[in-house]
Amino acid sequence: MEGIRFSVVVPVFNEEEVLPETYRRLTEVMEGLAAPYEIVFVDDGSKDQSPEILDGLARRDPRVRVIHFSRNFGHQAAITAGMDHARGEAVIVIDADLQDPPEVIPQMVAKWQEGYEVVYGKRAKREGETLFKRFTASFFYRLLRVVTEIDIPLDTGDFRLVDRKVLEVMKLLREKNRFIRGLVAWVGFRQVALEYVRHRRFAGTTKYPLRKMLKLAWDGITAFSNKPLKVAAYLGFALSFLSFIYLLVIVVSKLLGKSTVPGWASLAVINLFFSGVILIILGIMGEYLGRIYDEAKNRPLYIVDRIVESEKGNERSS
Ligand code: UDP
Ligand code: MG
Repeated sequence: MEGIRFSVVVPVFNEEEVLPETYRRLTEVMEGLAAPYEIVFVDDGSKDQSPEILDGLARRDPRVRVIHFSRNFGHQAAITAGMDHARGEAVIVIDADLQDPPEVIPQMVAKWQEGYEVVYGKRAKREGETLFKRFTASFFYRLLRVVTEIDIPLDTGDFRLVDRKVLEVMKLLREKNRFIRGLVAWVGFRQVALEYVRHRRFAGTTKYPLRKMLKLAWDGITAFSNKPLKVAAYLGFALSFLSFIYLLVIVVSKLLGKSTVPGWASLAVINLFFSGVILIILGIMGEYLGRIYDEAKNRPLYIVDRIVESEKGNERSS
């Protein structure tokens, strides 16, 4: 495709502190590969100076392209847009904050040249992240493994290289509540893990508050598993069985002439317990229902405001 070998896709949301350094290190690594490449920055509705910084880079460097969203659509939407617009034979997705070291890219490329079509980064170690984040992340990836049918590798993020062939398949998957690392696992092909140490953020703070983390976690589970829906049925059977035994107990004690009048406490507890169970199950059904609604509306995954690239960039062949 237009002779570009590598596309680097970088989602950006309010990353003004890191962008110049990200650009510098990415450029250094990519130039070392001695093949035509492009860097596609996706500005996910940043409110700081990121858009201006990125446009400046694009004006100076014909290998840089910037896709500006009309508002914040989220990390997964930004990655999707970058993959949609990438022209390279291999596409590398990397966060802007330098937690995923660009210096790992040549190793990914080496695996790709060996014939692997997906090379995904596996976090051997996480530096500079809170205990809470590490614990919840590790719990989540293990839970995901238990409830989903497909084999989503443990402790992988969105730092990966995908071959053009895989990319074209990924572009066909337009589901709205996206969990891209799951989609990549789902498509198959020859995949291999590459272990790396996840560093601390170069600067700035996380753009993933708990709310967004929980949303991503729900998307991961609901997109790849219907098991939570079955919980209702399992609980229903189990509780009916227990109720039946309790019924026998009541009948027998009545026949034996034992008083059955005291017991408002047990009634209250049973009532509260069942109300809780029913509400939880309604909530789970609601999560799925909301996602079905999102699919039915079929709105685009993101809206592009403008694309910035230098004039030379349009004509160049390298
Ligand atoms: N990001 C984005 N849109 C968002 C949130 C984050 O494009 O709504 C980008 C962010 O700029 C970064 C990457 O996604 O390049 C990962 O975000 P972050 O580093 O804040 O997440 P964490 O590493 O803390 O999980
Ligand atoms: Mg980060």
